[in-house]
Amino acid sequence: MSANIISGTEVAKQIREELKKEVAELKEKHGVTPGLATVLVGDDPASKVYVGQKEKSCSNLGIYSKRIDLPGDTSEEDLLALIDQLNNDPQIHGILVQLPLPKHIDEACVLYAIDPEKDVDGFHPVNVGKMVIGEKCFLPCTPHGVLELLTRSGVQTEGAEVVIVGRSNIVGKPVLNLMLQKRPAGNATVTLCHTRTKDLAFHTKRADILIVATGYPKTVTGDMVKEGVVVIDVGVNRIGQTPEGKSILVGDVDFDTVKEKAAAITPVPGGVGPMTIVMLMKNTVEAARNTIVE
Ligand code: NDP
Repeated sequence: MSANIISGTEVAKQIREELKKEVAELKEKHGVTPGLATVLVGDDPASKVYVGQKEKSCSNLGIYSKRIDLPGDTSEEDLLALIDQLNNDPQIHGILVQLPLPKHIDEACVLYAIDPEKDVDGFHPVNVGKMVIGEKCFLPCTPHGVLELLTRSGVQTEGAEVVIVGRSNIVGKPVLNLMLQKRPAGNATVTLCHTRTKDLAFHTKRADILIVATGYPKTVTGDMVKEGVVVIDVGVNRIGQTPEGKSILVGDVDFDTVKEKAAAITPVPGGVGPMTIVMLMKNTVEAARNTIVE
């Protein structure tokens, strides 16, 4: 068997088309232009690339983007004052603080200062709590992207054995919560594995749907999965450079051996990665829509 490829690039394109229409409608019917503020502290090269991608994505969709680059020695107090200003700026519907922040700034303190109504990353405890109890809220972008990839590819989660490898607050735990919700894109029986899991392969072999986010290449290999599994590889690992200086990326799953047994699998790059940014755009548009008083 050789797996179907679940293309995040294609699904993200579909969602972008939908968003373009929604942004145009918001402008025409309601006079509202969705606005996203991106805040970057310091000059970490990878963070600069991520913020640049988010700005570009905004501009392609007609979303207003305000980029704020601050020096690496910005104080926590000044950053909090900026967040307060953005919380009160009617042109800004979503605020994204690019992580990681420099060591002298308390990340949690900054993220918690963002108005939950503008927390388009879905990291504020108010949104996390609402997600857990199944209330409407901003869902974190990567886990939401995983869910959209599955549902738009026609993969049934209802009743499925879903095994997640990795328990971070930004990927594993929210994916667990989304898969557990009592609704069609959910209703799964979920197992969450981590480094203290005794026999990882025992669990991964039981999976109908396997979602891997560990940060290590080849955490899951072909001998650890059953025939017909659907695999979502969240991992992004830079393992070298091409002669042209481009990064060589691989996921956390050994694609070559797993694809021989899987029914479907996401590639890296071109799987979950493109979904993360488009879900951020979706949240920003939703935040703008939420401000309309009918
Ligand atoms: P973290 O380092 O925060 O968490 C990794 C998790 O994996 C931990 O819970 C850890 O367990 C677990 N883990 C690590 N090794 C193993 C192993 N051998 N067996 C079982 N569990 C293991 O990583 P993130 O969640 O932030 O990211 C995970 C991956 O996803 C990375 O490759 C990252 O680059 C990628 N990523 C991709 C995104 C995208 O947009 N495509 C967005 C976010 C992340 P323990 O808790 O016990 O330490």
